[in-house]
Amino acid sequence: MTPVLVINSGSSSFKYQLLDMDTERTLASGLVERIGPSTGTGLARHTVHAAALASATGPAPTVLDATRIRELPIPDHTAGFAVMLEAFAAYGPSLAETPPVAVGHRVVHGGARFFEPTLVTPLVEINIDELAVLAPLHNPANLAGIVAGRTAFPDVPHIAVFDTAFHQTLAPAAYTYAIDAEVAASHRIRRYGFHGTSHKFVSEAAAAFLGRPLGELKQIVFHLGNGASVTAIDGGRSIDTSMGFTPLEGLVMGTRSGDIDPAVLFQLERRAGMTVDDLDDLLNKRSGLLGLAGSNDLRDIRAAVERGEPQAQLAFEVYVHRLRSYAGAYLAQLGGADVISFTAGVGENAPQVRAGALDTLGFAGVEIDHARNESAERGIRIISTDASAVTVLVVPTDEELEIARQTLSVARP
Ligand code: AMP
Repeated sequence: MTPVLVINSGSSSFKYQLLDMDTERTLASGLVERIGPSTGTGLARHTVHAAALASATGPAPTVLDATRIRELPIPDHTAGFAVMLEAFAAYGPSLAETPPVAVGHRVVHGGARFFEPTLVTPLVEINIDELAVLAPLHNPANLAGIVAGRTAFPDVPHIAVFDTAFHQTLAPAAYTYAIDAEVAASHRIRRYGFHGTSHKFVSEAAAAFLGRPLGELKQIVFHLGNGASVTAIDGGRSIDTSMGFTPLEGLVMGTRSGDIDPAVLFQLERRAGMTVDDLDDLLNKRSGLLGLAGSNDLRDIRAAVERGEPQAQLAFEVYVHRLRSYAGAYLAQLGGADVISFTAGVGENAPQVRAGALDTLGFAGVEIDHARNESAERGIRIISTDASAVTVLVVPTDEELEIARQTLSVARP
């Protein structure tokens, strides 16, 4: 057994997953949330999913598939890790028997410095901290997880896996914004791109599924979840991506506007008296599907469309219109595509979105098979016709598995 622990740490919560990399199976996972000073009313919550009680000696793991929830005070991430360790000791798999060979940490922003998974050292921690200028909500939270993780597991390598790293292959023409070059350089303003772990996983899974060499494929990957982005991938390398300096740019999302004329912000500041914080809140938290139709969940939007509600119909059309624009743009950037994949909550579950995004692309060799697209089948699957020149896939993403793979590739090269 080769256990790898994956940590995805937020400011007041962290998710963890223990995988056996011999089989790539999840052994246990959990969520510690509401970390912070106890207010008397709000205790922290620890939810454990012990998918399997793995034994290093037994022939097969005993499947528990149990969920346990505990509420208790957890003042900080270090205390949260102690609670996680107690859960492993109580429910297994026993980390004393088979400790993780490495711990992988998701880090949102690697700036222009980190282009691959990186062994955490004190210097790397300083760099992640310094990059908080670019990701103030995420990097400090990710770093809190790293620090607590290194305390809990002092003897194993810790690897940072960056959301931005996959997009470090973008050419200057793709990552440069056409603004004053000195202003951009002094504030490190450029496109970084996000969701890189998912785009990498999906593009590699698509190539493997089709039995074709990654290096020969032109691919477009739509990661459509609550956050959404699309990436053009040429021979396994990201050449363009819709998220930019922050995850706000690009597609219409659950609560984010995606692309907008920046002058709208000047107008709202001058005419509506909105502050920078108001505008940040408007575009990141009160826009997208939520702003247009009152819910950030595409299932609610679809249900409202079925009921004939015009705002929901408009929200859906705006969402799909943007997808089409990017599909066309990335076909042009790549000079055509071999494979187009859909992933994440919306991409994996909403056939109307997939069809809407690609329906007009018959001229480019994209032909959706509507029965395949609407089938309730799960797992990786083809939804284009056999005659379609471009293969269209649904590919379930697995960011934890990708982080665990990258972690192992550094820990055991
Ligand atoms: P993710 O960020 O990948 O977890 O995706 C979450 C989003 O996926 C939710 O907010 C929903 O909008 C969407 N979603 C999940 N299940 C479905 C479904 N069956 N049909 C349509 N959208 C879905």
